[in-house]
This record gives sequence, structure tokens and C-alpha cells, in this order.
Amino acid sequence: MGAIVLKNYIGGEWVASQSSEILDVHNPANGEVIARVPLSTAEEVNQAVAAAKEVFWEWRETPPLIRSRYMFRLKELMEERFEELARTVTREHGKIIDEARGEVRRAIENVEAAAGIPSLMMGYNAEDIAVGIDEDCVVQPVGVFCCVAPFNFPAMVPFWFMPYAIACGNTYIVKPSEVCPTSQNQLFELLDEVDFPPGVLNLVNGAKGVVDALLTHPDVAGVSFVGSTPVGKYIYATAAANGKRAQCQAGAKNCLVVTPDAVLDRTVAAILTSAFGTAGQRCLSGALVLAVGEVYEPLKALLVEEASRLKVGDGLDDTVQMGPVVSRKALDRILGYIEKGLEEGAELVLDGRGVQVEGYPNGYFVAPTIFDKVRPEMVIARDEIFGPVLGIIPVADFEEALSIIANIPYGNAASLFTSSGKWAREFKYRVRCGNIGINIGIAAPIATFPFSGMKNSFFGDLHGQGQDAIQFFTDRKVVITRWF
Ligand code: NAD
Repeated sequence: MGAIVLKNYIGGEWVASQSSEILDVHNPANGEVIARVPLSTAEEVNQAVAAAKEVFWEWRETPPLIRSRYMFRLKELMEERFEELARTVTREHGKIIDEARGEVRRAIENVEAAAGIPSLMMGYNAEDIAVGIDEDCVVQPVGVFCCVAPFNFPAMVPFWFMPYAIACGNTYIVKPSEVCPTSQNQLFELLDEVDFPPGVLNLVNGAKGVVDALLTHPDVAGVSFVGSTPVGKYIYATAAANGKRAQCQAGAKNCLVVTPDAVLDRTVAAILTSAFGTAGQRCLSGALVLAVGEVYEPLKALLVEEASRLKVGDGLDDTVQMGPVVSRKALDRILGYIEKGLEEGAELVLDGRGVQVEGYPNGYFVAPTIFDKVRPEMVIARDEIFGPVLGIIPVADFEEALSIIANIPYGNAASLFTSSGKWAREFKYRVRCGNIGINIGIAAPIATFPFSGMKNSFFGDLHGQGQDAIQFFTDRKVVITRWF
């Protein structure tokens, strides 16, 4: 029997897509087909938008306190199925099971944060703006929103947006990544159990066709996108051209600066997790180490030694420290960049190509790879490789490190490893990146803070999570009152 074809969830019902275009979804550890995903039609998008629009007024009139209780129920169900969800993430994406657990935990934390909606979306007022006249600012939901999600945090990313959107009283459509759609499918089974009014939440599987139908639909108010920079730019421009609000979190090339006074063993451990965790497929992954002055030689030696010991394999095996990359296509792209680095004259000091994982001949594996003597103008120092490939750039001093970061077109994250408070302060003050780590390799904000990003890593003004999300998903209306 073949793998199941995933269904859409529209208006509170699971419905089979009528599309004839169906893609295989692979387990990247062994290449097996674990599901099939339809590329839904524009008509199916129209049905989802109609269902979300129809229930909007009923849902916005549901008191925030009651909307908050739906969040509590959802949290309970996610806790009950926690392990099952994590295993689904590992099976579709490849990341190790502990990382998958971390991802599901972050999704739950956003549900917990959104449960605070009764106080999060309160307005404000002023008496006597003129004699006997008062002014109120009321905060109201807007309508139908949607999320276009990436493959790399397939369970979590829609939860940077969706819990806030619906807690605010909007209705929602999720378009998961077609590469890793199974965990959203499982999460929608839980959302179905929560028993939201039909149409509050909808799931439409697909790719560009579904996205374009959402972006041009007159009844969609806004889009939250997370993915690569070219697609983010396209979605931002298309949403704006169609009169929609958009928040587009995009690609990255993150630097990790190490000063000579850094605590070396802790720094090396943090860099390894940053560069090789999730096989380098995080938007916060460290891609370049900028080694300042005399720390360069000892740091390089330790990084190569420790990275070469990381155990690569199936993420469901508890002893494995790094899983496969997500797809054959991703593997080919990463191997292409390793070739490119060699052509450009960088020194390959740890070669992860050709790694064999016993019992998994068809997995998409590449082991930790380190290039030394990378120069800032090289392609491998500028492009987002999105795999377990780390480049080391020796720099003379702190200022040179800052100028390299300033010239990178992305601004998602940057970290500094140091014992100097002065340098730490300079770093967080001057670096134009949205997520800064001081002696932290992955500066991932918790749910009550915005998931920031600057330059080519973000298009928009309000980010996912926290108060930014509440503002994105609401309108503010001013009411000026006089009674005779
Ligand atoms: P991607 O851009 O290929 O796809 C993202 C989504 O866009 C998918 O749902 C896909 O179906 C859709 N899409 C792809 N091409 C499209 C097109 N031409 N028109 C309309 N829609 C299209 O990204 P990905 O490979 O799934 O994810 C990896 C990328 O996401 C990396 O660049 C990573 O840095 C980025 N990312 C960024 C953040 C952040 O917060 N800044 C977080 C996670 C991932």
C-alpha cells in the first residue's frame, strides 16, 4: 500500500484535494516515502478563505477570555501528544529527537503566551481631551490571515503567528512547507479535537500556486511568511501590491565572533551546537566564525577536533548528535557549495562529504564540514548554504570582525564570545542583526519577545511572537465621545 495522501482541513472538515499534482514526502534518514502531499488548487484556497470569512464575526464576538480557554485546551493536547509530535518532526525533517522536542516545546510556549490575550489586546483611553470629550483606542481583530511556512521548523513556525492571530479574534489558514507537511497535519488533528468553531482554522497543502491564490485573494487581510530571502521579497511585494499587510522573515548568514579572552571550551561547545545543530538548517545557525587575533589557531584546532567526533545518523537514535539534511536537493546544493569553496581557495580542514551511516544507505547525510582561511568576498562567505558547513575567517581585531558583519547583506543573528563587557556592549549596540547572542550560539527569543531580523533577513515592520504579533493581527480604532 502506498503512503497516504495528506488532506486539507477546511471549515472544520478533513477534505481530499482534487489536485492531480501530488509530491512525495521523504524521511531524509532513509529516503523512504512517508506521505504524499497534494499541491492544492486555487479553488480549494477559495473554499478555505470563504470558510474563514464566514465564521469571522462569530469568532470575534467570542469574548477574549473564552478564546483564551481554547488556548489552554490546545496546550493540554499538545502536552499529551508531545513525544508523538516530536517524532513526526524528526521523521519528516531529520533533526535529532532532542531538537524536535525543543521545537515542539517552543510551539507550546507560543500557545501559552497567546493565552494571555485578555490583557494583551486591551486598549487605552484619555478623559477630557477637550472639555467633556473623551477618547478611547479600541483594539480589534482584522479578518482572515494566513501563514506560509518553511521546512526547517515545520511544527513550530506557524505557531509564531497562528495562536496570536486567532486569540485576537481573527481566522486563519496555514500553508505548510510541501517538503515537511506531516507535523502540521498532526497538529491540525489536535486543533480539530479542540473543537474551534468550523472555519476558525484551516490547513491548505501546496506550494507556489496556493501561495499566489492567498496573496491575490481579496478576503485575505495579511500574510506571515518565513522562508528564503528571494521568496520573502516576492511575497512582501505581492502582498503589498494586493493591499495586504505582510511580515516576511527570511534567510540568514550568521557570524560568531570569538575574542582572545573568550572561555574557550564553553565557546567551542556553543559554536558546534550553533553550526551543526539541526544540520545547520536553522535561520539562527552560525555559518562563519570570525576568530580575533591569537585565538584563531587554538580555536580552529578545537573546533575541528570536536566537530569530527559528532555522531551522524538517524535523528530517532538517541545517541546520534546530527541528523541528515532535509532532501536530496538540499544535499546536492550543500555538496555544490563545498566544491565551490575548494575552487575559491578556502582550505577544507574537515570534510563531511561521503559519510557512510551504517544501515542507512539512502539517507541524505553530510557530516560536519569546516573551511579555514575563508575570505569575506568568497561565495561560501556570502551565500546562505543552509547545511552543516562552517567557515573560519581569521581577523586582526574586533573592528575588522564588525566591518565583515556590516558588509553581509543579511541581518538575522550574530554572536560574540568574550569576557569583555566593553566589547559585549559595543557588539549589541552596533551590530545590525535582529537576534544578538553574547556567549550564546543560538539567540532564539522566547515567545514573549519578537523573533527579530534586519536587512535582507526581514521584510516588514512587525515580527512574529509577543507584542509585535498582537499589533500585526489587530487594528486600532479611535473613538471620540461627547454626551449632551
Ligand atoms: P522557501 O523560501 O523555499 O519556502 C518557504 C515557503 O514558501 C514554502 O511554504 C514554499 O512552499 C513557499 N514558496 C517557495 N517558493 C515560492 C514561490 N516562488 N512563490 C510563493 N511561495 C513559494 O524556504 P525553505 O527552504 O522552506 O526554508 C528555508 C529558508 O527559511 C532559509 O532561507 C532560512 O534561513 C529561512 N528561515 C528564516 C527564518 C527567520 O525567522 N528569519 C526562520 C526559519 C527559516
